[in-house]
Amino acid sequence: MTDTSDFVRIEHAQKSFGKLEVLKDISLTVERGQIVAIIGPSGSGKSTLLRAINDLDALTGGEIWLDGVQVNKTLPHRQYEKHINEMRQQIGMVFQHFNLFPHLTVRENVTMAPMLLKDLSKAEANKLAEEQLDHVGMLERIDYYPSQLSGGQKQRVAIARALAMKPKLMLFDEATSALDPELVDEVNQVMKKLAEDHMTMIIVTHEMDFAAAVCDRVLFMDQGVVVEEGPPEVVFKNPVKDRTREFLRKHI
Ligand code: ADP
Ligand code: MG
Repeated sequence: MTDTSDFVRIEHAQKSFGKLEVLKDISLTVERGQIVAIIGPSGSGKSTLLRAINDLDALTGGEIWLDGVQVNKTLPHRQYEKHINEMRQQIGMVFQHFNLFPHLTVRENVTMAPMLLKDLSKAEANKLAEEQLDHVGMLERIDYYPSQLSGGQKQRVAIARALAMKPKLMLFDEATSALDPELVDEVNQVMKKLAEDHMTMIIVTHEMDFAAAVCDRVLFMDQGVVVEEGPPEVVFKNPVKDRTREFLRKHI
């Protein structure tokens, strides 16, 4: 019997691409409202782990649970499609490369999913979009197209679009690493605000200062395993493992 009392529970996650084992028996839990940073070298499996949470990269072994429901359930195809769409609506995801629809305005980008997937009327979806865009400081750009926005503004719209689905969990995969340095802070500020609102978040980042300031826990991944985890003040200042220490020496 699986214990489902944790909000996010990853149990013995294993993922191989052919012969390459990318995730090696990773287990971790995230409590409701917790903010977890995942750090680690390129190729260590951070993105694969994040994408496994909403089954975009299906695990080859192990289980993912969100709020008492198993995400990566084995079901007949039609039932699986319905199940996974419902689960993905509860999990917002923001990637490194803004994936706004270029031919749609900011408003249309944010209202589309709530109208299509949640049957909201245009008026309801507009109200929701205005609220979420206001939250990320992008309300005055509601009728702009993505090409008319800076990278930081696009990323803030991407966050608003994810929030419009009222997710239970937000996943960020290097949301600021493609931005010019002067645009990083405006996106970090939005993530900080979400943290203050007690949104549960798992954040893959290279920004150690941000992780230390915002996250409750830091996980250091290397070669498909979680090498070390703990509160930021321990992992960053007093890491136990040599591999963590060596990585941090290069990155702080
Ligand atoms: P990170 O995000 O930590 O940089 P990734 O999760 O992207 O690492 O990748 C981990 C490993 O898995 C890398 O060796 C990468 O080349 C490999 N990998 C990722 N996605 C695929 C894929 N679709 N097919 C084959 N190998 C992949
Ligand atoms: Mg990655």
